[in-house]
Amino acid sequence: MNAASTEFRRRVRMALADDQLKQAMNRAKGGFVLKRQKAIAEFPEFHQMRDAARDIKDHVLTNLDLYLEIYEKKVLENGGEVHWARTAEEASSIVEDLCSKSGARKITKGKSMVSEEINLNEKLEKSGIQVIETDLGEYIVQLASEKPSHIIAPAVHKTRDQISKLFYQHHKPLGYANCVSERKDIVQQARSVLRNHFVESDIGITGANFLIAETGSSVIVTNEGNGDLTSTLPRMQIVVAGIEKVIPSLEDLSVFLRVLARSATGQEMSAYTSLYSGPRADNTYEEGPEQYHVVLVDNGRSSMLGSEYQSMLRCIRCGACLNHCTVYNAIGGHAYGSIYPGPMGSVLTPLIGGYENNVDLPNACTLNGLCKTSCPVHIPLPDLLRQHRTQQQRRKLSPFTGRLIFMIWVYLVRRPHFYQIVLALPIWLLNRLGRQRGVIKWIPLAGGWTSSRDFPCPSARTFQREWRNQMRQFND
Ligand code: SF4
Repeated sequence: MNAASTEFRRRVRMALADDQLKQAMNRAKGGFVLKRQKAIAEFPEFHQMRDAARDIKDHVLTNLDLYLEIYEKKVLENGGEVHWARTAEEASSIVEDLCSKSGARKITKGKSMVSEEINLNEKLEKSGIQVIETDLGEYIVQLASEKPSHIIAPAVHKTRDQISKLFYQHHKPLGYANCVSERKDIVQQARSVLRNHFVESDIGITGANFLIAETGSSVIVTNEGNGDLTSTLPRMQIVVAGIEKVIPSLEDLSVFLRVLARSATGQEMSAYTSLYSGPRADNTYEEGPEQYHVVLVDNGRSSMLGSEYQSMLRCIRCGACLNHCTVYNAIGGHAYGSIYPGPMGSVLTPLIGGYENNVDLPNACTLNGLCKTSCPVHIPLPDLLRQHRTQQQRRKLSPFTGRLIFMIWVYLVRRPHFYQIVLALPIWLLNRLGRQRGVIKWIPLAGGWTSSRDFPCPSARTFQREWRNQMRQFND
């Protein structure tokens, strides 16, 4: 087992033993899933919209170069600038360069997973620039010196009590003497602290949910309004977005908006949908940024085009696959050890970060298919995870014992009669082991499985024998 695998297993064990995490995850999971179900039930056209969203994305991905060029042209016409970054390092350097040249000392940021992907905060802080996250969840994880554990709810792993203590620790030196514990008081305190940062900020950096080629606009969908304050108050606005975020037109945007909020939070629409298309118009308005920059990040995305993983580029980062994932809900986002957790992260991370350091992610999945059925753009996540496993098998990256077990299994299933004979003995033994209690508490070579759950006692005969018997009785 390599060091990355050992570390992954350590994180998972820690997560499974963390009662506060369990409490926070249980609280969150029901809310997301039930609200999504309700929102979809109230919108009969949802499945038509999903199909339309998938078709738009597929069309764009087939013509990505064309739409990116149109988008760039429009941004330039609007008075903005577009920067192209092939790698994460290049992207963070471009942003750092823009910040340093403008003499910025303080930067406010709206939530942006791609900025996490390119390690932007670390890069800017090393240059002596203060970075303030302004999305409440991001602000909480920043205070805790952690990474987001969910792509739309970064602090979902924290209980209210933990947040309350965190605020007390960090806000007391700012003059907030009381430890607030009510939800509304926590929000109010965050608002009050962040207000000063918004006013003092030199540059606002956000991500983008979509980039519209037709108008050269970047679109941010939020529930907190921090995106607007981040984008419009400072003198420079920087948008950092993956190249796959481009869509053709405003009309297409209306399709995505109808599926995004319903899939993400179970809302009809998020509270704020804002479009930014460039710097403030000359002398016409006093508000809005004087400079507008868009950094388009590739970082492995273009190599997914035309591959069996292209459909992953349809992802609109709604988080529904995480909310429905049994593994994610048991271990939380940090245990994955990647910026993007859950099913979408297990597919995406090996593609942008390499297989070698992410061997366990595609295997941390039960393949129950809930992620695929909940995905608003029909990404076949379980199929893509299987593709990853095949790749690992071919490259001999998975552990030798695992490969050996699969080799034996393949040998046996190709010889059905022999397979049945070989299987009959362990099945019989398991039945003897568990028939008194109805469950088995420990199985040789499967101690990891039985250490956290009971194994139901199987029938004394294999399924095929049982089935043949029943068919015989039925025919008699
Ligand atoms: S893979 Fe699908 S469900 Fe998961 S975040 Fe992306 S769009 Fe949403």
